[in-house]
Amino acid sequence: MSRHRAPSSVTRRGALVAGAAWVAGAFAASSGLGGRWGATAAPSAAPAEALAAAQVPPTPAGTPSTPPTASPTTATATASATFDRTAHSTGEASSPWVVVNKQHPIVPADYEPAQVVRVAGELVSAVAAPDLEALLAHSRDDGVALTLVSGFRTHEYQEQVHRRSVARNGQAGADRYSARAGYSEHQTGLAVDFSSADGSATLSPRFGETDEGLWLAEHAGAHGWLLRYTEADQAVTGYNPEPWHFRWVGVELVAAMAAAGTPTLEQFFGVSGGPDYA
Ligand SMILES: [Zn+2]
Repeated sequence: MSRHRAPSSVTRRGALVAGAAWVAGAFAASSGLGGRWGATAAPSAAPAEALAAAQVPPTPAGTPSTPPTASPTTATATASATFDRTAHSTGEASSPWVVVNKQHPIVPADYEPAQVVRVAGELVSAVAAPDLEALLAHSRDDGVALTLVSGFRTHEYQEQVHRRSVARNGQAGADRYSARAGYSEHQTGLAVDFSSADGSATLSPRFGETDEGLWLAEHAGAHGWLLRYTEADQAVTGYNPEPWHFRWVGVELVAAMAAAGTPTLEQFFGVSGGPDYA
C-alpha cells in the first residue's frame, strides 16, 4: 500500500534530523533546561509556535499543491510545534499515553480496561483495536505473516508470568525480562507481543531479524504502535530489548516522538524510568 511507504531512507533521515534539531532548539529556547529532560513541565507552547511561524512556510500541511517531497518535513515540523504534550494524562491507566514502568506502577493495582476486544486471538483494549486491525491488514497486504502471542493480561496473570520467570531466571534475571505484577504495560490492554506464523523466534531476540520483526520496526509506527524496548534505550526503559513488544499510543504521538527525536515515552514526557523498582 503506497500510502504507507516511507520516503527514501535518505529523505526520511533528513526529515528526522531536521525535526529533531528543530525541536531541540525550540526546547532549549523555551525551557532553558540543560541536558536532562525536564522533570516538571513540557516546554510551553507559545515560544515553539512563534518559532514555527518563523521557520515553517505558511502553506497548510496537506494542501494538494504541496510537492510530495516537501510535505513530510513540513507536516512533521508543524506537528511537533503544535503538539500538546498535556492533552492526555501519563499517569492514568486508561490514558492512551500512560507511562508504565518500574518507577510507575498501574494505579489502581487491579486496573482493567473498560472494554477489551479480541483481535487475532488476543484481548486488547477496545481503543487500540482499530489500529491493530489496520496494522495486521497492512502486513497481510505486504505478505508478512504476523501473529499475536500476548495482549491484555490481568494483574493475577502477570503475577503468574513473573513468578514463572523468577523460578527460571532468579529475581534479578526475571526483572530484566518480565514485569512484576502491577508494572506491566500488558495490564493496560495497550500492549501486544507479536510473533511470526512459523513461531520460530517467539519472544526471542532473533525476532528482530525476521521478516516480521523487520516489517514491524518499519511500519508499526504508521499505525500508532511504538517499539517500546530497544537495545539503545535499556537504561531508560529498564528492560532488555524486546523486538516483539509494541505499545499502542496513537499515530499522532508516534509522529511527535519521531519529530522530537525521543524514542521513549519516558524521554518524551519527562517521566522517570530505569531498571530499579520504585
Ligand atoms: Zn510484551
